Amino acid sequence: MEALLDKLSEQHELTEEEIVWFLGHLTPELKNKLYSRASEVRKQYYGVSVYSRGLIEFSSYCKQDCLYCGLRRSNWSAERYRLTEEEILECAAEGYELGYRSFVLQSGEDIHYSEQVITSIVRKLKLRCPDTAVTLSVGERSEGFYRALYNAGVDRYLLRHETASRALYESLHPGMSYDNRMDCLRILRGIGYQVGAGFMVGLPGQTHRHLAEDLLFLKAFHPEMIGIGPFIPHSATPLKEAAGGTVEDTLVMIAMTRLMVPDALMPATTAMGTLDPAGREKAIQAGANVVMPILSPLQIRRKYALYEQKICMGDEPAHCRSCLEMRIAISGYRMDHGRGDHCGYSRLTKKEHQE
Ligand code: SF4
Repeated sequence: MEALLDKLSEQHELTEEEIVWFLGHLTPELKNKLYSRASEVRKQYYGVSVYSRGLIEFSSYCKQDCLYCGLRRSNWSAERYRLTEEEILECAAEGYELGYRSFVLQSGEDIHYSEQVITSIVRKLKLRCPDTAVTLSVGERSEGFYRALYNAGVDRYLLRHETASRALYESLHPGMSYDNRMDCLRILRGIGYQVGAGFMVGLPGQTHRHLAEDLLFLKAFHPEMIGIGPFIPHSATPLKEAAGGTVEDTLVMIAMTRLMVPDALMPATTAMGTLDPAGREKAIQAGANVVMPILSPLQIRRKYALYEQKICMGDEPAHCRSCLEMRIAISGYRMDHGRGDHCGYSRLTKKEHQE
């Protein structure tokens, strides 16, 4: 087992069989060594910086029906909202005043926000908040949409692959196509975005082999950003009785991913903080290096419920900022409110792609 950990730390790779074996034979002692190796590797690439992204969840409408998600279209009990362009820009401006230089605009798959609407929002946001990075996360769209938004100034795109196993993917996403999801990721990469993929830990039916497939997919695709969070069952979904994922299993996957893809930007997710008050700090100790404080208006936050009992629902952005800064400092790291680009990214690269 130590030999496998050495191989993972030094060569940043394992075979599928080695990953399955490793996951099946982890001891508490070995897990601690794994976290510590992952932490060392992230420091080699990003030092002690933890990058902040101000998150604006601007619509809770979604046309998809993912079995695990509280925003799925079949959840009639979900309260829905849409923010106006001005409301979105005000959230960003408030974050900008607080020092944030990186924003994530996220929604369900809501076609109310057309290419023209989002292009206008992004252009105005970039004018009002100069020198900021904008990440978009609005699901599967056309190549033309992705290209137009890139040209409008969007820097990054988050589209979790959810699971690299075709069979598991199809069992959880009625009406959606595994091939289309993967095609979207490849198109985004080809256009020049910094691309974010990622998956959930603890999905019903998920095995160590499925998780090995996720790690090998991430190794091969090499996304700039990788989001990994525990699956938390929502009471108004078909998976309400499922056991859900654990903080500990998620920490293992964060650490292994850090060692497989050492230069990735990886969030310590709010879902981790929801399951364990120290979940985000533990994720940072295991190799994560991004936090995403919520900037959405307080009165609508609870309605963006992919899962329930989400933390930080009543905290003003200024309070979130100081709370996170303190938590990160106590963990021995330093909050960085700058753009927080991937270490291999240069603005010249983006310009070249646009020309
Ligand atoms: S996971 Fe995303 S695409 Fe699926 S139902 Fe939820 S918001 Fe919609």
